[in-house]
Amino acid sequence: MPPRVPVTVLQRFRGAAVVGALAIAGTVAPGAVAHAALPDPRPGGESVLSRTWTPALDPADPLVLVNKAHPVSPAGWAPDDLVRPDVTALGEHDRLRADAARALERLAAAAEDATGHELVLASGYRSADYQRRLYARYVDAHGRRAADTFSARPGFSEHQTGLAADVAEAGTSYTRFGRTETGRWVADQAWRYGFVVRYPKGEQAVTGYSPEPWHLRYVGTALTTFMHLADTPTLEEAFGAAPAPDYAPTGG
Ligand SMILES: [Zn+2]
Repeated sequence: MPPRVPVTVLQRFRGAAVVGALAIAGTVAPGAVAHAALPDPRPGGESVLSRTWTPALDPADPLVLVNKAHPVSPAGWAPDDLVRPDVTALGEHDRLRADAARALERLAAAAEDATGHELVLASGYRSADYQRRLYARYVDAHGRRAADTFSARPGFSEHQTGLAADVAEAGTSYTRFGRTETGRWVADQAWRYGFVVRYPKGEQAVTGYSPEPWHLRYVGTALTTFMHLADTPTLEEAFGAAPAPDYAPTGG
């Protein structure tokens, strides 16, 4: 099961009463982490900041790290709990793992409340086989070197975990997401719903990818709260993992 911020942890945050009040007032969606959640500074007070985060190797674990140094393993792995979230989908890749799907529904509802725009799912789960065809198409069109900056090689895509969602503002291409009102809202707020904007601007040397404001990765709110409070922009840093700017040389 994915880690969540349980009530017992939230109660250790200063301002828990404010969190409750905000939730009752309806300004914080159920399941979201509120603004007032701050680490407890008292000696012995537990906080999400004191936890050490280690990446999972099991692709079924929501804390799995997938990047150019860590492929999905076993290579042909597929999730067994894929569902269609109640969010408008733009294509055939309209499924996510159940917990990620529920979180995306909450994110989309809150985004629409805040911006008036519909958030849509451009691409969710993609099989290793589909990624193979997609990557081959990009290599044909742009060359391998360029393709590697924006498309994962087969076996190295977070989309294969069922925990990654490319999202868009309804009516605009997902590639313009960063310039939309919804995109700006998501950049600020996605962490409250357990999503990381996985490939932020300025982090290509760490993540291996040019900025993708539309590519969200579900890890659960415990880790995203940590990343938010610790001002840690990438999963690699949150896990204390080495940067993964490139694939290991294959020798041919
Ligand atoms: Zn993506």
